[in-house]
Amino acid sequence: MTTSTQIRKGGSWLLEDTAPADVFTPAKLTNEHQLMAQTAQEFVDNELLPATDRLETKDWDLARSLMRRAADLGLFGIAVPEQYGGLDLDKASSLVVVERLARAASFATTFGGQANLCILPLVMFGTDAQKAKYLPRLVAGEIIGAYALSESGSGSDALAAKTRAVKQPGGSWLLNGEKMWISNGGFADLIVVFAKVDGEQFTAFLVERAFPGVSSGKEEHKLGLHGSSTTPIILQDARVPAENVLGEIGKGHKVALNTLNYGRFSLGAMCAGGCRAVIADSVKYAAQRRQFGQPIASFGAIKHKLGEMIARTYAIESLSYRTAGLIDAALAGSHDGATLARVFEQYAIESSIAKVVGTEILDYVLDENVQIHGGNGFVKDYPAERYYRDARVNRIFEGTNEINRMLIPGMLARRAVKGELGLIAAAKKLQDELLTPSTPSASFGDSAPLAEELRTVAAFKKVVLMTLGTAMQTYGEKLADQQEVLGYVADIISETYASESAVLRAQQAAAGGEQSASLQEVAARVYVNDAAQRLEAAARSALAGMSEGDTLRTLLAALRRVLKVAPINTIALRRVLADAAIQKGGYIL
Ligand SMILES: Cc1cc2nc3c(=O)[nH]c(=O)nc-3n(C[C@H](O)[C@H](O)[C@H](O)COP(=O)(O)OP(=O)(O)OC[C@H]3O[C@@H](n4cnc5c(N)ncnc54)[C@H](O)[C@@H]3O)c2cc1C
Repeated sequence: MTTSTQIRKGGSWLLEDTAPADVFTPAKLTNEHQLMAQTAQEFVDNELLPATDRLETKDWDLARSLMRRAADLGLFGIAVPEQYGGLDLDKASSLVVVERLARAASFATTFGGQANLCILPLVMFGTDAQKAKYLPRLVAGEIIGAYALSESGSGSDALAAKTRAVKQPGGSWLLNGEKMWISNGGFADLIVVFAKVDGEQFTAFLVERAFPGVSSGKEEHKLGLHGSSTTPIILQDARVPAENVLGEIGKGHKVALNTLNYGRFSLGAMCAGGCRAVIADSVKYAAQRRQFGQPIASFGAIKHKLGEMIARTYAIESLSYRTAGLIDAALAGSHDGATLARVFEQYAIESSIAKVVGTEILDYVLDENVQIHGGNGFVKDYPAERYYRDARVNRIFEGTNEINRMLIPGMLARRAVKGELGLIAAAKKLQDELLTPSTPSASFGDSAPLAEELRTVAAFKKVVLMTLGTAMQTYGEKLADQQEVLGYVADIISETYASESAVLRAQQAAAGGEQSASLQEVAARVYVNDAAQRLEAAARSALAGMSEGDTLRTLLAALRRVLKVAPINTIALRRVLADAAIQKGGYIL
């Protein structure tokens, strides 16, 4: 399968224009992708959703048998080379699967613990012998995988783990420590465990439950995801054979971080799928629930919610498909471990954006879904309350959203300092340009659909340069200490990537004469218009946090000059989206 996307460096979209035809979008899914999506959808509808209540009683035998069913359907083989029993498919195939699994959030967590957190690090960092020993059984669902990085004292600060590994005469290892909150902890057979060799060298190990000294603690009582297992993993003089070091000794951070890089992208994509599914619930409920003699869907306040849910979902969906296309183009079909790790690192910024934007849009959508359901949204007869609880952890795991917000501008700044992307030169050019107000603005072809929105996105990019550039100039090497500023800049970067992804997709739809092209245009216009307001507020706060007096006045004047966005009638446009969704009975784009 190919996704026909041009190869681009991670972050380069910020400084280079992208042609609409170049972005990967749902319209570019191949028949094979569609088939994979349909397989996953039927699995969710026919087998996972009916099993929800039983899974929530912590019936792990059922979880195991559903994992075997997922394996029979080929869902664990997507990212695995054929020689190890896999299907050797692209990331777009993984994306369409996780999107569908989103509705069965507990199982999706069990699935992710295996596919993203155990199979993937093995594919990336395993030796041929390790891959041959474990991958075929993981792909077949015969064994269940897990990933044990966190400890009670080290979650975000994962490299501060206390679990120790000591080499024994003969070369084997003795591991001691306790891992916390491990997904699939109650029944996983193979666990990627991170420990420090002699308390210093952070290293990954492949630990079988059957090894002496390995056990699970009690199931956690959680806010949500009651149908997924979360336990401590206890290592008491656990004996691990010499050949079960994963990757290099002292290079465990590479295993941990590259696994998370991909996991973040995947979580963002899953959130997009969750949004789409829930919009269908909201729309159907709003159409049948009557108050004051009419369906609540006829009220402007409800249409506003539905329209906004759709516009935001369109943005995260466009962003995650675009990112999948970038990753697939860079991988060019390779499943070589070193290539995978390099490419995931290359798109780490986009993956963190997908994680933060996706999890927050999903929480917004799920919150409004509860609200649209009124009292019924708060009781267990309807799934709205479970969706709401299940999703909350998304902002906590795979790196909290605070940590990811630090990473987004932090990684860009590091690449800029290294001279990559030409970011510093672009920021300097912008500074000069802003001191010469007569400089004409770039032309984007006024007659093209969404030309105004594309101009707005170009302005967003200038705001990124202005805020990140000012922050780098002001704080230099101490930039990492300025978390509030970094948080604002992260939001500005994220809004920019999301807005551009939505506009490019809508332009592609218009050029291709897609049936939903005009609705896609509406969604992109609503998103960009409101993003401009959020982005302006973030930029003003960031600049005011970094400067004062005349400098601040000059910067704010420059911001006003760059970001001239005339408000459009988003009330009417949201109604268009809401009415179309009500008529269709679900997500429209
Ligand atoms: C259901 C569930 C499943 C999980 N599955 C797994 C799993 O399979 N494997 C695994 O290894 N772990 C897993 N985890 C653990 C999860 O990854 C951690 O909970 C997460 O990384 C946060 O760590 P913490 O809980 O220690 O919070 P902390 O790191 O203590 O963070 C608390 C708060 O402080 C903020 N904070 C921390 N450091 C900073 C900083 N430097 N700057 C700004 N803010 C900061 C955080 O953003 C957060 O808001 C799971 C957790 C849950 C709840």
